[in-house]
Amino acid sequence: MKKVGFVGWRGMVGSVLINRMLKKKDFNNIHAIFFTTSQYGKLISNLNIKNKSKKLENAYNFEKLFELDIIITCQGSQYTNRVYFKLRKMGWQGYWIDAAANLRTLDNAIIVLDPINLEYIQQKINMGIKTFIGGNCTVSLMLMALGGLFKNNLIDWISVSTYQAASGAGSKFMKELICQIQYVYKNIPSLIKNSSINILDIEQEISKQINSSNFPKNNFHVPLINSLIPWIDKKIDNSGQTKEEWKGQFETNKILNTNKIIPIDGICVRVATLRSHSQSFTIKLNKDLSIDNITNILNSHNKWVKIIPNNFNDTINFLTPSFISGKLDIAIGRIKKLNIDKNCFSIFSVGDQLLWGASEPLRRMLKLLI
Ligand code: NAP
Repeated sequence: MKKVGFVGWRGMVGSVLINRMLKKKDFNNIHAIFFTTSQYGKLISNLNIKNKSKKLENAYNFEKLFELDIIITCQGSQYTNRVYFKLRKMGWQGYWIDAAANLRTLDNAIIVLDPINLEYIQQKINMGIKTFIGGNCTVSLMLMALGGLFKNNLIDWISVSTYQAASGAGSKFMKELICQIQYVYKNIPSLIKNSSINILDIEQEISKQINSSNFPKNNFHVPLINSLIPWIDKKIDNSGQTKEEWKGQFETNKILNTNKIIPIDGICVRVATLRSHSQSFTIKLNKDLSIDNITNILNSHNKWVKIIPNNFNDTINFLTPSFISGKLDIAIGRIKKLNIDKNCFSIFSVGDQLLWGASEPLRRMLKLLI
């Protein structure tokens, strides 16, 4: 039985991964050892897994890590930077599976999303590659949504606007959005009940609260509630792009192993949603296809795609983060031709960034290895 170490399993991506593995009974075929950067020595009492270590191990204990066949980490880039290179330098030959972004650019690291690049992953396993990284959440969700168009080489270019949930930035950010909601909410009941107050006075009062010095914004720096943030991650030198926007083209082409770069660019925006990312695509195809044709191509690519008819009722009920959160479904709707050009059309998609956007590709990679 392979010895598999889990790091970062308490976090959002990690806990979604563990729940999926429990549901799919993946723990039956491995010996699981759980690590932590902050709570080592504690007993693991809340996980109902037969073949597991009894206590939490120190995630910086290199001797323990060295004994493992596979390490799967959802701890974040800082941890990866501190551990990965040192462990490899020590001669560790095991498989490293990671949710963090920093190894994705390495030549000998493969970005994994098996419904899209299974053959490529298998080829690289056979070649002895040992480092497999989950893709950026919006990239993986885009590929899952538009897989059929990519597979049939139909795409000339894509322009995208994202609507990314607070949880995409990590648990601290998600908590801060909830604190922002709470901060505003506590003053609302008295305002709403007072029929003599004009609605715009209420709006002004809320704006005043949001801009007060006590408002919780250590992580986002600004209010996300009643607002949005059209900037995600750091600036890329001179291009005007953010790192999140840069990943769209780089990671997509790396996952697809394209000979000729498919141009992808746009603006990534953080919105006041708790979970699940949405994306609005303008797509230029290299062929004039009917909407029915496009819909069939998208629908037949993978079983998680759910086509939402382009009407008011279906759209507001099923093409939303609140409907999709917690599901593996990739909802795709608003498919229509655009006036801009006969080969240009729009698509709106929603997917849970903690499932297909983060943990599910890692879980499936682990399964491929065991
Ligand atoms: P996270 O929820 O912030 O968790 C990271 C670590 O924080 C945990 O493993 C845990 O480590 C520690 N932690 C401290 N206090 C905690 C608490 N109260 N509850 C749970 N954990 C706590 O991070 P994440 O969002 O899962 O992201 C992990 C990695 O996945 C990052 O590299 C991120 O970029 C990547 N990723 C995230 C998403 C997403 O949607 N969030 C999507 C794709 C990729 P210890 O047990 O060691 O203390």
